[in-house]
Amino acid sequence: MFKLAFCAGHYLHTPGKRIPKQLDPKETREWMLNDRIADHLQKAAAERGMETLRTDDPTGEAFVDIPERTAAANAWGADLYVDIHHNGALGIFDGSGVEIFSYPGSAQGRKYRDAIYEAVVAAGGLKGNRANPLQEVRFASLSMTKMPAVLVEYGYMDSIADVPVILTDDYARKVAYATVDAIAQVAGLAPAYPQAEFIRDVQRACGAKVDGIAGPETLSKTVTISEQKNRTHPVVAAVQKYLHSRGYTQVGKADGIAGVKFTAAVIAYQEDHRCWVDGEITAGHKTWKTLLGLL
Ligand SMILES: [Zn+2]
Repeated sequence: MFKLAFCAGHYLHTPGKRIPKQLDPKETREWMLNDRIADHLQKAAAERGMETLRTDDPTGEAFVDIPERTAAANAWGADLYVDIHHNGALGIFDGSGVEIFSYPGSAQGRKYRDAIYEAVVAAGGLKGNRANPLQEVRFASLSMTKMPAVLVEYGYMDSIADVPVILTDDYARKVAYATVDAIAQVAGLAPAYPQAEFIRDVQRACGAKVDGIAGPETLSKTVTISEQKNRTHPVVAAVQKYLHSRGYTQVGKADGIAGVKFTAAVIAYQEDHRCWVDGEITAGHKTWKTLLGLL
């Protein structure tokens, strides 16, 4: 089983590390942002069958230093270490973006770093304008770990562009699931619910030819599903399972009934994929096309 060790950088009471008052009246602390991603990451990793070890204090109250964190990961025999942070440029500015670091010369670390960057930027949208978002640096957590390790800065706490985004739980969830997806991909782990399996389930439920490859025939057989229409159609369960596996965990359990949770997840999905946002998956239309990978 893949063993993922991770931590939320710093702790609740680390001096300084927080969003400046001008951008966030609550001056949200870095550890709180890191912690939220850490929680989602743990959930996402568990859902994909990974073992997890969190090396900082999940309450944020106790300070665990880096040698102690990395020693725990080393003793546990982790396959990868992810150190979760948010950046500061020490002055309010309008630059932005995700930055990820790996240890100099670690080819495997670089592979994880690059895959996570691509997935996180695609999911969270904070591509930013940094000249060099992917670097090799001898940070303590990267040099004291014996396994491949990455330090991810999920956005800038003093960036006008990033702050409204990094403050949302939606961002934390999306980037955490994207991080785990990228890790699974590099580690060669099968995704929780592969696209082809989803397509086969849709084809079966809608009476299309079952081959795991979506095309015009599959699309023509799709049905409209929502709280109002076909809410217990057999395809509802497949869509619930698929949305959940892609990070839309608000969908809840795959019980085969489209209710309020289903609508909430569909709305979030439609927003992310620039579909018409109405909480309904209309037969043959854009949301179906996107779900089936036809766009
Ligand atoms: Zn930090």
